[in-house]
Order: sequence, then C-alpha cells, then structure tokens
Amino acid sequence: MMNRYDLHCHSTASDGVLSPTEVVTAAAESGVKVLALTDHDTTDGLDEARDAATRHNISLINGLEISVSWCSYNVHIVGLGVDPHSEPLQSGLQKIRNFRAWRAEEIGRRLQRDAGIEGAHEGAKSFSNGQSIGRGHFARYLISIGVESDYNKVFKRYLVRGKPGYVASDWAELFQAVEWVNQAGGQAVVAHPARYKMSRKKLCNLLGEFQELGGAGMEVVSGTYSKDDIFNMANLAAKFELLASAGSDFHAPGNWSDFGRLPAIPESCQPIWHDWPTMDDK
Ligand code: AMP
Ligand code: MN
Ligand code: MN
Ligand code: MN
Repeated sequence: MMNRYDLHCHSTASDGVLSPTEVVTAAAESGVKVLALTDHDTTDGLDEARDAATRHNISLINGLEISVSWCSYNVHIVGLGVDPHSEPLQSGLQKIRNFRAWRAEEIGRRLQRDAGIEGAHEGAKSFSNGQSIGRGHFARYLISIGVESDYNKVFKRYLVRGKPGYVASDWAELFQAVEWVNQAGGQAVVAHPARYKMSRKKLCNLLGEFQELGGAGMEVVSGTYSKDDIFNMANLAAKFELLASAGSDFHAPGNWSDFGRLPAIPESCQPIWHDWPTMDDK
C-alpha cells in the first residue's frame, strides 16, 4: 500500500523544478492526501501551495527544510506544521539565505578559477526563479552547457566536497533549527538520516542530541532509501524515541523521488501524524 502522507518535497521556491501549484497537482494526482512542502530555508511557496491544495481537496502542511552544520556535516532538519509568520524562524532563515547568496558567488568564482567554467553564477541564477541559489541550480546550469549529462554525475564531478564548486558552509546550528521550528509551533524532523555518510556511532550521536534538544522525529521512509535503510531507520527511531516521518524528497518528475511511490512506515513506528487532526476534523 502506498503512503498517503508525503512530508518532504521541493518547488521552485528552492531547488525543485515545478511551481508550488504544479507540485501540489502532481502529488494529488498520484494519490497523496497529506502533503508538506519543504523548500530549503524558505517558506515562500506555502501560500501558493495552500490555494492549490484547497482546489485539489488535499491537506497542506506548512513545512520547510533547514540547512544545518553539525560536526562538519551538512544536516537537514525538516520543520512540519510551522507558523510561517514566526519572527525567530524568519529571521533565522534570512541569515541562512544571506549566506547562500554569498556562497553562490563563491561557487561561481571557484568554478571559474579551478574548473575554467565562466559565468556559472549568472547561469545558476537563471535557473533559480528569483529565489535563493543552491547547488541544484548550478547542476542544472552545468548540464545546460553540456559539461556533464546528468544531475548525479554533475554533482559528483563539480559540486561535492573536494570538487571545484564545493564551499564548506556555515549553516545554522542544530539547536537553532530545532528551536526555530518549536518556537513556530512545529515539529522538527531529521531529514533523510540514512543518507548522511556518517558512521553509525556518529548518526546515533546526532539523533540522541537532536532528541534531547527537543526534536520530534526522523524520516524513517524517504524516496532516497533502500528497504534496508527503512529497517535500520525504524530501529533507530525506536531507540531514540523519535516519531517516524515519510517524505519523497521530490525535486522533479520522472525519477526515484516521484510522488506516489513511498512505502508505508513500518508497524513498529509511531507516525509523526499520529495525533494530527484528520481532514474530517478540519
Ligand atoms: P545546497 O543546499 O544548495 O547545498 O544543495 C543541496 C541539494 O543539492 C540537496 O537538497 C539535493 O537537492 C542536491 N544534492 C546534494 N547532493 C547531491 C548529490 N550527490 N547528487 C544529487 N543531488 C544532490
Ligand atoms: Mn534539494
Ligand atoms: Mn535534504
Ligand atoms: Mn529535501
């Protein structure tokens, strides 16, 4: 049975290719009933997504995905059910986006200096819909000029640690991300924990620290996971008393993260939505 909940996806408000309206339409057409739009470091897509969700008669959860630096890893924290008008949340996000703007210029300079690629910052900007520029936009630009053929390859060759277009980043602290989400009345969730290239010990440290800081859940099911990942993450959720979330991490149609393919969360887990009001209560 497919999962009716999809609590992680991206629109053109960050590095997704579909507008918020198109994202909601695609999700609804795939059978998703409860959708969280979780763009990187912004809540800008939510108003448009909410209107579309009303038209499609599905539930839209106000979400976002916050960039965090933790022990020199890039960790992502999803916030679910946040009040987008929360002042501490928005001022925190503004700082991250200011850093993003500087980092995008720096990525452009380094691609020029170390890979001989001119104009990458402007190029990435042309894919960013006037929003903050991320590595995904650089990836699309680099593909458009033909230096590499697909998204994963372009990341591997240019945009990951040790490659010309990678800039070590100073994102938010873990405690700040959890605090911002909690102060905005939401629930903090560790995004795709199985995807960080951490030792098990390190991952346990992260999840333990996150739970003590007031974090609520972790993604036990993700579009990016294998069956083994789901099994392992379900065990870790139990160990650290974290609720289980599920999200595709949709960025574009037609790949592994497409809507309507998420498996159910294992029976051993308590879903993060266990005490949410259902559609009928609204
Ligand atoms: P940023 O927050 O700008 O550093 O970009 C992070 C985003 O880049 C992630 O949310 C993914 O969409 C994408 N990404 C990161 N690493 C990879 C990778 N190895 N292959 C493909 N996409 C990636
Ligand atoms: Mn992304
Ligand atoms: Mn992420
Ligand atoms: Mn994501």
